[in-house]
Amino acid sequence: MAMNDELRFLVVGASTAGLASAIALKAAGHHVLILERDSELGGTSSIPTGGLRLPPNGCKILFDWGLEAEIRANAVVGQGFTVYKYEGTDSERDYIGSHYWDLELLNEARGDFLQMRHRELLRILYNEALLERPGNAKTAGTVVIQFNAEVVDADFEACSVRLASGSVHSGDVLIGADGASGYFRRRFLNEQGRNENTEQSVLAVYSAIIPKESAVADSQLAKLYEYPQRKMVTFSMGSNRGAQAFIAGKDKDVVFWIYTPDTSEDGSWTQVAEKGISHVVGHCDPLIQRLANLAGPPTCVQIKNHQELQSWVSDSGKVLVLGEAAHPFPVIALHAYSIAIEDGAFLGKIFSHTRNRARIAEFLHAFEESRRHRCAHIDESEKQYITAMTLPSGPGRVATELAMRANAATGHNVMDSASDDLQHMWDDMRRIFGYDPADDADEWWVSWGRLRDAPNAS
Ligand SMILES: Cc1cc2nc3c(=O)[nH]c(=O)nc-3n(C[C@H](O)[C@H](O)[C@H](O)COP(=O)(O)OP(=O)(O)OC[C@H]3O[C@@H](n4cnc5c(N)ncnc54)[C@H](O)[C@@H]3O)c2cc1C
Repeated sequence: MAMNDELRFLVVGASTAGLASAIALKAAGHHVLILERDSELGGTSSIPTGGLRLPPNGCKILFDWGLEAEIRANAVVGQGFTVYKYEGTDSERDYIGSHYWDLELLNEARGDFLQMRHRELLRILYNEALLERPGNAKTAGTVVIQFNAEVVDADFEACSVRLASGSVHSGDVLIGADGASGYFRRRFLNEQGRNENTEQSVLAVYSAIIPKESAVADSQLAKLYEYPQRKMVTFSMGSNRGAQAFIAGKDKDVVFWIYTPDTSEDGSWTQVAEKGISHVVGHCDPLIQRLANLAGPPTCVQIKNHQELQSWVSDSGKVLVLGEAAHPFPVIALHAYSIAIEDGAFLGKIFSHTRNRARIAEFLHAFEESRRHRCAHIDESEKQYITAMTLPSGPGRVATELAMRANAATGHNVMDSASDDLQHMWDDMRRIFGYDPADDADEWWVSWGRLRDAPNAS
C-alpha cells in the first residue's frame, strides 16, 4: 500500500455518528467499512421507531450535504414550544406561555428546528452513505455497511476488530461510534483505570408513539393537529416530572416523552419497557393522561451520570471514539443527533486534508481538542434544561413559573429575559445553533494543520 493511498476507516456502529462520519469521510475520498451489531438499521422493527428534534446546527450540515429536500419531506418544521404545568390545575390543563423561534436566529444559523423519526433520519443518512456520486473514480471514497456484525474485541495497536462471528477486520483508523453503552467506551474507561459510573439520576425517560389516526380520533388530542400547535412542541413542567409531545416525521404521528421518577428499570432503546406509560405518569393534566392511554409500547431509558473520558484517542493513536461513545448526553437531549452529525462532519473535513498515515494520531487528537469543549458545554446546558423543566415544588419553581407567566401576559416569549438564568440559557442556545463544524475544522487546518504539512515541518 502506498503511503498516500486513501485511508481505510473501520467504523463501529451504523447510527447517527457512524453514518455521518462515513458520509463525510467518503466525501473526503477515503474508504469506510461500517460494522453494525443489529440486523436492521435503527434497531429492530418490532420496536416502534421513536422521535427526535434536530436543531439548526444539525440540519444545516445535512442541507449542505444536499439532503434538504429529503429531510424536509420527512420532517415537521417546528416553530417553537408551548409550556404547560404538568400537574394541571383543578383537573384542567394549565397553560403557562409560548415561545416562538426567532426568524433572525434561524437565518443566522442557516437551519430550522425539525421534528423527525429516528429510523427515517437514519434511512436518509444510510442511503447517502452508500450513494455513489459520479466523479473521478480514482479519488472517490467508498462506504460498505455490514449488519449482524457485532464487535466483541479490538486490537488498538493493530487497528483491528474481531466480530462475534470470529471474523477479523482491520484498517488504518478505528472509530468507535457504538454509543453510550458500547464496547469502545467501556474499553477506553477500562484502559484509563475506571469503570462506567452506573449511578442513575432520579429520572427515566419513557418514549412512545401515538399514531396520527388514534390521535385525531380523540377530540382533545386532535387539537394538537390545529395550527399553530401542530408546529409546536408541548412542554409540561412538573415537580420531578416532565413531558414533551410533538408531531414528527412523514406520517405525522405524535411523539410522546415522559421524564419520570417512578421506575428503576434499566431499559434501552431496543426493548419494550416493563411498565406501560400510564403507570409512570403520576399526577398529570388530562392531555398527558390521554396521551398515556393511547400510547403504543414504550421504551424506558434511565438518565445516567456518565463518567468523562480522559481521552477520546487511544494510546496507539489509531482509535477514536465519537458520538455518544465519547460524550453521552442525557437521553432525548435536544442535541443528541446534531452533535453526532457535527462530529462526523468535523472528522471528514479535517481528514479531507491528509492521506498521510504518519499524521493520523495528530488528526485524531485535533478532533478531540476541537470538539471536547463544545460537547462538554452542551452536556452542561442539556442538564440545566432538564433541571429547569422538572424543578421540584418550592420557591425556585414558583419563581420560574411566575416569570414565564408574566412574559406571556405581556405578549412576550416565555424565555425572553424572564429571569437572568433563562435569558442566559437562551443566549447560549443562539451561540450553539450558529456553530458550523466545517468552519471550525478549516480554522484548525489553517492555523495548525497545514503548517506541519510544509516540507520542512517536523
Ligand atoms: C435503536 C436505537 C433507537 C434510538 N431511538 C431514539 C429515539 O427515538 N429518540 C432519541 O432521542 N434517541 C434515540 N436513540 C439514541 C440516539 O440514536 C443517539 O442519542 C444519537 O443518535 C447519537 O447516537 P450515536 O450514533 O453516537 O450512538 P447510538 O445511536 O447509540 O448508536 C450506536 C450504534 O452502535 C451499534 N453498536 C453498539 N455496540 C456495537 C458493537 N459491539 N458492534 C457493532 N455495533 C454496535 C448499535 O447497535 C447502534 O446502532 C436511539 C438509539 C438506538 C441505538
